[in-house]
Amino acid sequence: MRSDYDCIVVGAGPAGSMAAEAAARKGLRTLLLEKDREIGVPVRCAEGVGERELTELVQPRERWVANVVQGAVLIAPNGKEVVIEGNGDRGLVLDRKIFDYDLAAMAAAHGAEIATKAYVFDVLRTDGRVTGVRVQHLGRTHDIRARVVIGADGVESRVGRFAGLHTALKLRNLGSCLQVTLANIRVDPRYVYAYFGEAVAPGGYLWIFPKSETEANVGIGILGPYTKQRSAMRYLDDFLRRRFPHAAVLYTVAGCVPVAKTLKKIIAPGLMLAGDAAHQVNPVTGGGIITAMFAGRLAGNVAAKAIAANDVSENMLNEYAREWHRQVGQKHERLYRVKESIIKLRDADFNRLAEIMQDIPPEERTLLTVLKKALMRKPALILDLVRAFMG
Ligand SMILES: Cc1cc2nc3c(=O)[nH]c(=O)nc-3n(C[C@H](O)[C@H](O)[C@H](O)COP(=O)(O)OP(=O)(O)OC[C@H]3O[C@@H](n4cnc5c(N)ncnc54)[C@H](O)[C@@H]3O)c2cc1C
Repeated sequence: MRSDYDCIVVGAGPAGSMAAEAAARKGLRTLLLEKDREIGVPVRCAEGVGERELTELVQPRERWVANVVQGAVLIAPNGKEVVIEGNGDRGLVLDRKIFDYDLAAMAAAHGAEIATKAYVFDVLRTDGRVTGVRVQHLGRTHDIRARVVIGADGVESRVGRFAGLHTALKLRNLGSCLQVTLANIRVDPRYVYAYFGEAVAPGGYLWIFPKSETEANVGIGILGPYTKQRSAMRYLDDFLRRRFPHAAVLYTVAGCVPVAKTLKKIIAPGLMLAGDAAHQVNPVTGGGIITAMFAGRLAGNVAAKAIAANDVSENMLNEYAREWHRQVGQKHERLYRVKESIIKLRDADFNRLAEIMQDIPPEERTLLTVLKKALMRKPALILDLVRAFMG
């Protein structure tokens, strides 16, 4: 490691690796720092992405894909199943260990330097501007300077906080998740499954993302306030006992998802935050891989532009925040309102929604047709959802 770079990226998840790749591709001397010993491990993710969305960002490699799905099955509290076909829009269940690893390797191929076991525990500041990081690497502490720092250090981001940004997440906007990877099960791998209901996953949902006919990521995400009554683990245990009594648990992981609006401020002089660190997750689904990649790339490109202009002021870096909001953030604000409506739904509302969906022929069942049909029936809560979507 040198003692100064153009760009330092903290965290080698999808946001960080895409940021490092973009910055290095534009010729910046770039350093990517990861606190864990190995990139991609531990996996805290159900590993689902849309194929089209991923392909817009990178060319998917075969080795990243554990399973391809053609649609989703939604299961109402009364057990009614509604199949939603992707109609050609396929979903991928990734192998994130390989995926994250390869994204970092792609950044390296463009010239980014990478260090693992490199824990950033403070930022350096000069005249109110972030000018580097303090890192512990293999037992030694280093101060490394950079003209721009990109904080891509995940939901528990400390880089933003070190730089004085307000990164706290309200309990009501925190998805508390627990997931197991199961073997020795039987599941139709052509679909992902989402279960709803107060007894299954209050203020959230429980998922099955198959990796094959006999393996799947099975997890639950519930909103913070509900965990006071009963933990995510107890809900998941109940479900597993009923649905997969003979499963072997290969892997267990807990984690949090920010189901919130994007942070009010995602930039400071010399600093940008990207991915979970900036709360750039879809607030309805909790999916954040694609948006993290998008934001990371955008931040890396803006870093290059700012450095070329010799101006890393807040004003200059604001292009990143502006573009994020224009291209994705505004949609997330609408989705946040949808989430706020969904958490008000009771079991009877979910059951009614399932009935409405079942009336629609499977080949016509898209989110839009469901909403149109719901609108005709005009139940008040569903109207809330429609308003949120239509903005
Ligand atoms: C149980 C669960 C299931 C999920 N399922 C899905 C899903 O199916 N699809 C989907 O799209 N999203 C899913 N998500 C969300 C998704 O995992 C995240 O949105 C995504 O990983 C965000 O990428 P990121 O690069 O911002 O952060 P991360 O992937 O969290 O990467 C941050 C990196 O920064 C490193 N780091 C942190 N602090 C420091 C430090 N101080 N110094 C150096 N390095 C540091 C971390 O070790 C980590 O490697 C799920 C999340 C959970 C918890």
